[in-house]
Amino acid sequence: MSANSEESSEQGDIGRIDSHNPATGELLGSVQSSTPEQVLAAVEKARIAQATWQRLDPKERGKRLMHVRGGLVERAEEIAAQITAESGKTQVESLSMEITGLADLVTYFGKRAHKILAPERIPLHLMKHRASYLHYKPRGVVGIISPWNFPFLIPMGEAYMALLAGNAVVLKPSEVTPLVADLGRELFIKAGIPGDLFQVIHGRGDIGAALINSNIDMVCFTGSVATGRKVGAACGERLIPCILELGGKAAAVVCDDADLDRTAQALVWGAFANSGQICASVERVYAMESIHDELVSKVVENTRRLKHGDPKDMQTDVGAVCFPRQLQVARELVDDAVEKGATIQVGGQQVHEDKGMFFQPTILTGVNQDMRCMRDESFSPLMPIMKVKNEEEAIDLANDSNLGLLGYVFTKNRDKGKRLAERIQSGTVMVNDVLVTYGLPETPWMGVKDSGLGRVHSAEGLRSLCQARHVNHDQFFTLPREMWWYPYGDKAYKRALGALRLLFGRNSRKGL
Ligand code: NDP
Repeated sequence: MSANSEESSEQGDIGRIDSHNPATGELLGSVQSSTPEQVLAAVEKARIAQATWQRLDPKERGKRLMHVRGGLVERAEEIAAQITAESGKTQVESLSMEITGLADLVTYFGKRAHKILAPERIPLHLMKHRASYLHYKPRGVVGIISPWNFPFLIPMGEAYMALLAGNAVVLKPSEVTPLVADLGRELFIKAGIPGDLFQVIHGRGDIGAALINSNIDMVCFTGSVATGRKVGAACGERLIPCILELGGKAAAVVCDDADLDRTAQALVWGAFANSGQICASVERVYAMESIHDELVSKVVENTRRLKHGDPKDMQTDVGAVCFPRQLQVARELVDDAVEKGATIQVGGQQVHEDKGMFFQPTILTGVNQDMRCMRDESFSPLMPIMKVKNEEEAIDLANDSNLGLLGYVFTKNRDKGKRLAERIQSGTVMVNDVLVTYGLPETPWMGVKDSGLGRVHSAEGLRSLCQARHVNHDQFFTLPREMWWYPYGDKAYKRALGALRLLFGRNSRKGL
């Protein structure tokens, strides 16, 4: 039940948000938008609940939160069906990407959080009679603002991590997929997490903005670059930290020594899983000219084999498009490319329009870097493949983007793969695989350039949900006074000069 549910009947239809099945258009249910006053009240309740929660040590929090996993596994099929109904992704994707992803995150960090958040000694290179350490304190109330493309894994994963770190959570899910968020919260409550500690508020962008401007202590935002800039500015105004996970335009560089059968399968899955609505989706391919034609024919062959349609059907590979705007973007990018001389090798059309929102998995060739499909985030099932002369050109083009979330390299030569990967300006680059690093909880997920700030997952991601505080203390013995204290004078000056020469003078002429 969401934070505002009690008041919803009194408000009638004002602020009602309807949720529709993108594959059928069917109305699935509605939620009531919160008011800014209700947002403030939710944050205040969360703060009170957090005061108790933060006193538990991280091991105990990990144990309690581990109960979420039981509910996840028990109710996996019901949850997967709800995710599929509200997002249009296939049932296989709902289960394997969203639910299994969360179960693994809970398991991995539940067992390790107490070690990751344990005080950390900082060895001092001077002043050996003193010692330093960092200790991690929860930030307080964390506001999570999430998108519709992973309506379960992203908000529930972030909520889990924030709670584990000792915070309370107030979540504003996308207005496009509100029901899955309520279901996710219910799992936490059934697992024994206090209701006030994890609250869901519903609403559009203005309610997201109201959440940031309430009394919260940190924001975890996932969404577009345009909204991310507003969120960053609002957090800057309040001087609270934010993690911004924003858009992507992942480039795949296919070298002439790549295993083309594996590469073609990887690219097709990487571009069309979740109908291309993944921030890590393969959004553009740069193929060496020597293998370009063979790669295209294998990619086209693999794409033609995909079953596109009803996401509830277990045989379906590519489901519906979740958000009407993405249909429009796909149409515009394909039209722009064709007008400028590109060829549609397969797909290119909206289909089953009477039933819902479906755009065919589409391969474009004869593209160039000036086309919108190579520059704008498509977040839809489009894979443009561009012929390039050599790896240098491919790397230059891959880096010719304001976005830098994911990148991919395909080659049989491991050393070359790593060398090229390190030259791609992205938070993560995978060699010979696609998409899956979000599912590796020990690794950081982060963007460079306009793709974001901060990171989620990894030990550092968990720590960033806390304030790191430094304690410096005496050890072994306590001197009657330190030599740099008052009084100053000639002696103090000579002591300072002597210390400088002793410590740093010996090799200074040689520049060592
Ligand atoms: P949006 O930026 O449109 O929305 C994201 C969230 O922000 C929604 O909950 C939205 O509410 C809310 N919001 C809108 N305006 C404001 C505001 N002024 N202040 C606070 N919150 C606001 O993104 P989409 O939902 O369309 O998601 C798609 C984008 O997310 C793509 O660019 C994709 O690449 C990116 N993404 C990035 C990921 C990453 O890990 N880097 C992962 C997944 C997606 P409402 O929906 O009600 O408008």
